[in-house]
Amino acid sequence: DVAMYEGKKSRNEISVFDERMHESLKREEVLRSSIKECVEKGDFHLCYQPIVDISTNEITTFEVLLRWQFNDEFIPPSEFIDIAERYGKINILGEFVLEQAIASLSKLNAVNSNIGLSINVSVLQLENHNFLDFLVALLNRYAVKPYNVHLEITETVMIKNLPYLSKVITAIKNTGVRISIDDFGTGFSSISVLKELSVDYIKIDKSYIDNICECSKDKSIVSAVTNMSHMIGCQVIAEGVENPAQLTLLQSLEIDKYQGFIFSKPVRFDQALSLIY
Ligand code: C2E
Ligand code: MG
Ligand code: MG
Ligand code: MG
Repeated sequence: DVAMYEGKKSRNEISVFDERMHESLKREEVLRSSIKECVEKGDFHLCYQPIVDISTNEITTFEVLLRWQFNDEFIPPSEFIDIAERYGKINILGEFVLEQAIASLSKLNAVNSNIGLSINVSVLQLENHNFLDFLVALLNRYAVKPYNVHLEITETVMIKNLPYLSKVITAIKNTGVRISIDDFGTGFSSISVLKELSVDYIKIDKSYIDNICECSKDKSIVSAVTNMSHMIGCQVIAEGVENPAQLTLLQSLEIDKYQGFIFSKPVRFDQALSLIY
């Protein structure tokens, strides 16, 4: 009987689906409930990836990237940041990153007082009313120059309250800290954000850089975004540059800085220090 057969088939499909859902929810639950304890145990650490001036090829900044070694497994930030954001754990991670980063900036600046540090910040952290006080306390405690601190706003969640965010960002900028829009061209990072928020840097997402040599549309978009950014007083950083052909092309488009495996992967702190000695 066809109807019965169809019924059985979809029941089986549903149970396979259920099992996979169950597995992934179980994993999420394990990761979610381990975040706080792992921060306290020291299972999270920071890596540093150089951001380079495209005309001098000198390091101007390091981007701080969070790493989680969970038992024997390396959990990628794409997985745990998402979980932390969805389950109210992003402030635990964010405060850990901010403190560690600013402490390490003071050590980097002892070697080179002009080096900056670029720290990824979730929109959810900025919506926390203690964010500014926490940041200012750290700037004072570690006596770093505010303009050496850059916050990369990663718009992975929809901005609920743009007027509030705009006020917070203005207050942050008044301390001297600089603002970057990360992954520009993806998700919710749009031109409206540039209109509402006063930003210093635009980081063009790697997905526009990957095929920039072969795809004339990507090249035109990067060129147009660069010109527009310069006209509104923003510098442009290309993410994920991997080969010399991309770099040459980006130079001709007059972007300001780049970051990518062609120069360096994210490295441990002592290696970062040795790169600027
Ligand atoms: P992002 O902020 O756009 O960071 C750049 C990502 O691109 C990093 O991945 C970096 O390792 C990778 N990358 C850089 N150059 C290249 C390249 O040439 N080739 C390739 N294939 N990849 C390159 P990572 O470390 O896995 O981080 C992924 C994302 O996780 C970050 O994207 C950021 O959105 C988020 N994230 C990482 N650390 C933090 C953090 O401390 N706080 C927050 N809120 N988010 C973070
Ligand atoms: Mg970033
Ligand atoms: Mg990015
Ligand atoms: Mg990106």
